[in-house]
Amino acid sequence: MITQNASEMAAAVASGEVTSEALTQAHLSRIAEVDVKVHAFLHIDTEGALAQARAVDAARAKGEKLSPLAGVPLALKDVMVQKGVPTTCGSKILEGWRPPYDATVVSKLKNAGVVILGKTNMDEFAMGSSTENSAYGPTHNPWDLTRIPGGSGGGSSASLAAFEAPLALGTATGGSIRQPAAVTGTVGVKPTYGGVSRYGLVAFSSSLDQAGPCARTVLDAALLHEIIGGHDTYDSTSIDAPVPAVVAAAKMRDVKGMRIGVVRELGGEGYQAGVLQRFNESVEVLRGLGAEIIEVSCPHFEYALPAYYLIAPSECSSNLARFDAMRFGLRVGDDRARSAEEVMNLTREAGFGPEVKRRIILGTYALSSGYYDAYYGSAQKVRTLIINDFNAAFAQVDVLISPTSPTTAFKIGEKADDPLAMYLNDIATIPVNLAGNCAMSIPCGLAPEDGLPVGLQIIAPAMADDRLYRVGGALEAAFNEEWGGPLMNKAPSLTGGVR
Ligand code: GLN
Repeated sequence: MITQNASEMAAAVASGEVTSEALTQAHLSRIAEVDVKVHAFLHIDTEGALAQARAVDAARAKGEKLSPLAGVPLALKDVMVQKGVPTTCGSKILEGWRPPYDATVVSKLKNAGVVILGKTNMDEFAMGSSTENSAYGPTHNPWDLTRIPGGSGGGSSASLAAFEAPLALGTATGGSIRQPAAVTGTVGVKPTYGGVSRYGLVAFSSSLDQAGPCARTVLDAALLHEIIGGHDTYDSTSIDAPVPAVVAAAKMRDVKGMRIGVVRELGGEGYQAGVLQRFNESVEVLRGLGAEIIEVSCPHFEYALPAYYLIAPSECSSNLARFDAMRFGLRVGDDRARSAEEVMNLTREAGFGPEVKRRIILGTYALSSGYYDAYYGSAQKVRTLIINDFNAAFAQVDVLISPTSPTTAFKIGEKADDPLAMYLNDIATIPVNLAGNCAMSIPCGLAPEDGLPVGLQIIAPAMADDRLYRVGGALEAAFNEEWGGPLMNKAPSLTGGVR
């Protein structure tokens, strides 16, 4: 039952073949069995999940019309607030905090009858590419437990690859949905900025942050995208337009006549040979399906990473100022002899991990008077150049493609002491966050040298998210035919057999 796709599970619930309660219980049992090894979850909401599941079963019994994913379990990245359920953002500073409200995406999930199993592990405040920066210990990649599951949303992607949940939500500031998807053989989508509400997401870099769907198939991601997307008056950057028709696009399975651009700058040096091999084969698959392949150049993408590492820390230094020891979670040294400022300093010293501190210091420096124009101002200008590169490219092609991540999953600990090596993981995903358009990662095979999943990135213009699903759905169908089933069938066993 747990190895089915979310759409199959929803159909089984709707037809009465299985109850949502039984389905939810099966996933909770799976979590109990394997999460000691995987550590995808920070909190499991057993009672809450079962209550939600029973409510779906009761609605069905009454003959109410169910939404397309009603009764199906989901894993929620711990950066999103859910009323009464602990939310830590992977940080000690939020330990013990229970939010008093639901994020908009959470209310939408609840209204759609999607069952929330619990909160998933992540790099502290979503800063990282490996989930090793979590204050609660790393998550392990179900393909190889000695390797990272990507980050910052490694818990969400690992929960899918370990069959602990068929659906998950992630957030991407630079790559935290696509890169974990790539290294775990799953699907992840960063929707157009403003396409999904940010209300109730703990802010990292507000002009870049975006929530999106994670799943094992393109159609499942599309079904979830339609539930979480749409205008929200609680988010001033939310786009007041209908959600693109992503489910219909996922079902088209046809790219004939589409113009697909291969980005010259996202490949070559620094990319693992097996990643490039699988990417190049995918290009040929698309050509075989009738797409026109065009090489395009985006000359300013090489400045995306440095621009990101000025903009994101600058915004985070401001956003994380709210953790002042007074309003949320941890408070250290509050013995009445100390001033509020001393308590704040002690709390921030104890509550934030090294990567978060590094970013706050970098961002505070980049925003300081005298340096603002040289650093933050210049980075914003680079952002415009990257947007111009995308506009020029999309004048020639319908979508762009590249490898999602330069390498497959690396070993836990391998890059932990080298922030720059860690930052390079998102070299291909960051331009999209800077420009605000949308992108998807889908599995495109296993790298020959290590047998680990490789991700292919599809990029579309803002509010053309449906094109991601059209190309992703067609490629997935072609791959499944070639591989004799989904890549996930090849996932190694965890406890004597995943399947
Ligand atoms: N790895 C990038 C960073 O560390 C992106 C993280 C994200 O998308 N949240 O900032």
